[in-house]
Amino acid sequence: MKIKHNSLVEYVILGVLGSLVVLTLAVPPLLRDRRCAPVLSLSVLLRDTDNSWTAARQGMELAADELGAELRFLTLTTSNSGEEQEELFLRELEGGADALIVVPSDLEGLYAALLHRENMKKCVLCGGWYIPKSNRAKYCPDCAEQERRRKTRDRVRRHRAGM
Ligand SMILES: [Zn+2]
Repeated sequence: MKIKHNSLVEYVILGVLGSLVVLTLAVPPLLRDRRCAPVLSLSVLLRDTDNSWTAARQGMELAADELGAELRFLTLTTSNSGEEQEELFLRELEGGADALIVVPSDLEGLYAALLHRENMKKCVLCGGWYIPKSNRAKYCPDCAEQERRRKTRDRVRRHRAGM
């Protein structure tokens, strides 16, 4: 059942890619003159390690070129690693990609990561994402612990210096 579901997802994505190509054929005259406008940045996250998507990829690169969009293909180092893809996904999102096209290796996991992200906060020290325990929290648990230690150390130092 899982396999069937996945291949259905792939067909849907292929359909989207197909319509993108069709769109590209129709739209270029409108967009060609706007090359100097900010480029649209698209990230395509595949779930494989290799280029099993070569044909689709070539089509998309052609389309992106026509539209003056920036296209990035990201493959995984371990095929079908949901965890790795999740990481890439959030990184691309964070990196300001205008659109993400994903061939999900773990759809539910990706969903969860996305929903989760809304409740997450970015640590002002290390830039990592974490779930804050209070609205005032500024640091991730690791950095908060380090900050706490640093403050204690400072306090002790000041105390010893007789201040
Ligand atoms: Zn941190």
